[in-house]
Amino acid sequence: MKNKTEEKIYDLIIVGTGPAGLTAAIYSCRYLLNTLILGELQGGMISESHRICNFPTQNNITGLKLTQKLVNHVKELNGEIKQEKVEDIEKQGEDFRVKTNKKEYFAKKVILAIGTEKRKLNIPGEKEFLGKGVSYCATCDAGFFKDKVVGIVGGSDAALTAALLLAEYAKKVYIIYRKEKFFRAEPAWIKKVEENKKIKVFFNSKITEINGREKVEKVKLDIKKNLKVDGIFIEIGYVPNEKFPKKLRLKTENSYIKVNKKQETSVKGVYAAGDITNNPLKQVITACGEGAIAANSAYEEIKKSQENE
Ligand SMILES: Cc1cc2nc3c(=O)[nH]c(=O)nc-3n(C[C@H](O)[C@H](O)[C@H](O)COP(=O)(O)OP(=O)(O)OC[C@H]3O[C@@H](n4cnc5c(N)ncnc54)[C@H](O)[C@@H]3O)c2cc1C
Repeated sequence: MKNKTEEKIYDLIIVGTGPAGLTAAIYSCRYLLNTLILGELQGGMISESHRICNFPTQNNITGLKLTQKLVNHVKELNGEIKQEKVEDIEKQGEDFRVKTNKKEYFAKKVILAIGTEKRKLNIPGEKEFLGKGVSYCATCDAGFFKDKVVGIVGGSDAALTAALLLAEYAKKVYIIYRKEKFFRAEPAWIKKVEENKKIKVFFNSKITEINGREKVEKVKLDIKKNLKVDGIFIEIGYVPNEKFPKKLRLKTENSYIKVNKKQETSVKGVYAAGDITNNPLKQVITACGEGAIAANSAYEEIKKSQENE
């Protein structure tokens, strides 16, 4: 491992290239902070969203288009984006060492904008048929199910929008949901699902097994029913990544990073923004807002320490 004195020390490293990380980058670049943006998936979760209809000024934009716009905005400001997976973050004195699958970097401040991961069902067949009919991303895979029959597990906005997208391709779409009605989804999406003749909902039902030979052929429900399907999409929520919060000893709430109004975490120099924080509304607009605040807080701190030098 190289000594950090031999390496460039960035003012700020942003981990995550979703809406939170990219907005933090826009602010940070405009503050002329020496910034490095590291992320695995450009656009984060929005790159998997079919359409975003509630982002101010954008009443119907595809997730990919919004991703492109955000990335272009950062690039126009000469933001240095590297598509790398962060494997380790360590506090070294006042600074931080960030190790990726390719290299290690050093920074005075770090913003964690790492979002969440898809929750798994953990039932037989889920792992075995991944990519053979089991999917966690309707936007990515809907096109493979033209004129086929598909199931979706879940009852959130993500599940309902996935069902609506799949109904544009498949001949039949089943929603399998464990509750008696859609409690959490936006009424506008519920109405669209109810009006769509291709979609049939099984409430009070849990999927217990995914079966097939080479690929998915049917799923077993706990209501003593088998459904013949060609694909099954799992949209049952998200879980936060606990690795970095644990490593950096950040305070958490239900595994989400605790932040204050400045997006500061319990460790000096570490900020968090977007879906990974304990803020309740997990949306693009809030992720962007938190990213902006985090970058501003990092900037204020850096400015203050430079004034004191
Ligand atoms: C299907 C679907 C539809 C949605 N529809 C809407 C909608 O209509 N309106 C709305 O406002 N919101 C919607 N959302 C929610 C919205 O997408 C999220 O709230 C938002 O993307 C959160 O942004 P984020 O930047 O916090 O996290 P994410 O978008 O999850 O981005 C996290 C980033 O961190 C990166 N990352 C994680 N770990 C590492 C690591 N170790 N190393 C490097 N990079 C890492 C990821 O690759 C990614 O780039 C939807 C979500 C889904 C899944």
